[in-house]
Amino acid sequence: MKVKKLMISAAEKLDDKPEPLLKVTDLKTWFPVKRGFFSKTADHVRAVDGVCLRIYRGETLGLVGESGCGKTTLGRTLLGLEKSNGGKAFFDKIPLHELKRHEMNRLRERIQVIFQDPLSSLNPRMTVIDIVTEGLVQFKKIEGSRKEHAVRLLKEVGLVADSIYRFPHEFSGGQRQRISIARAISLRPEFIICDEAVSALDVSIQAQVINLLISLQQRYQLSYLFISHDLSVVSNIADRIAVMYLGQIVESGTTLDIIHNPLHPYTKALIAAVPVPGKSRSRRIPLKGEIPSASSPPPGCRFHTRCPEVLKICSQKAPVRGTIDGREVLCHLFSHA
Ligand code: SF4
Repeated sequence: MKVKKLMISAAEKLDDKPEPLLKVTDLKTWFPVKRGFFSKTADHVRAVDGVCLRIYRGETLGLVGESGCGKTTLGRTLLGLEKSNGGKAFFDKIPLHELKRHEMNRLRERIQVIFQDPLSSLNPRMTVIDIVTEGLVQFKKIEGSRKEHAVRLLKEVGLVADSIYRFPHEFSGGQRQRISIARAISLRPEFIICDEAVSALDVSIQAQVINLLISLQQRYQLSYLFISHDLSVVSNIADRIAVMYLGQIVESGTTLDIIHNPLHPYTKALIAAVPVPGKSRSRRIPLKGEIPSASSPPPGCRFHTRCPEVLKICSQKAPVRGTIDGREVLCHLFSHA
C-alpha cells in the first residue's frame, strides 16, 4: 500500500494557520427516545455530543472509533442528513447548521460523500454512464456529450471505457467503490466525507482504493473526512486523526503522534489492536465490556467504566479538554498539563 506521508500536514506546520475549510464547534446531534402511550420524549441518545474539529484544504482528517461511537452520525450531520441540536459547523464560512435542505443540496457541488456499501448507494437500475454523470446533469455542468464525461471519469478512477453501459451488479466490490468515487468527484468537490469507504473490501483492494483516493486528493487538492473503525486503515491516509468515544473526541493530533505516542488510554487500546508485521496481535480491542449506551453515558469521564488507567476522580468529574504539544486530549491524566 502506498502509505501516505506520516508527517505533520502543511497546515499544521504553519505558525500562522490558514482558515480551516471545515470548522466544527461543540456540535451536538441527539435523537429523542420516546416512551409510553403518548410517545413522550423520555431521554436522548447523545450520538454526537460536543464535537469540535477542523479540516484544512488538501488534508485528510481520519475519524476513528468503535461502532456506535457516533462517527457516522457526525458525518451525516455535516451532510445535512441529520439535524444538529446545538453547536456550529462552518464550511468555507458557510454555516451548515443553519442551512435549509434545498440550500444544503446546492452545496452538493462542493461537498460529496462516499458510503461503505456501493451496492446499496448506487441505483441498481441505472447504468454507470447515468450514475457518474447524474450530478453534472443536475448542476447543468455537461459540456460535450454525457458519454465523454463518463469515459473521462471512469479513466480517472482506473476503470475501462466500455464499462459505461453496464449496471452496478455486474462489477466487483472494488470496482463498484471506484464508480462511487467517480460519481463523488464528478462535480470537482472540495470536500469528501468517506464513511467506512473501504471497510467492506478485501485488504488488497482496500490498499488500491486508498491509493486512488490519495492520488485524486493530490490532483484536485481535495479535503477528506475519512471515517473508519480501523485505525490501521486510517493511518495510511490521514494527516491528522481524531479519536471518538461515545459521542466525544477524546484525542486528536497528527497521525505520527497518535500512532507512535498515543496519550489517551482509549487511543492506546485502539493502537494495541493494530496488526504489526511479524508480530502476532489480536485484532480485538483489549478493553473490558462493551461501549455504554449513548442515552445514559457514564458520569464523569465516559470511558471510566472500561479504562485501564482509571483514577478515583474519573467517575465523579468530567475531564476538561487539554492541549499538549499541539494535540488535544480529554483525560484527567493530562488535565493538569
Ligand atoms: Fe481513563 Fe480517567 Fe482518563 Fe477517563 S479521565 S480516560 S477514566 S484516566
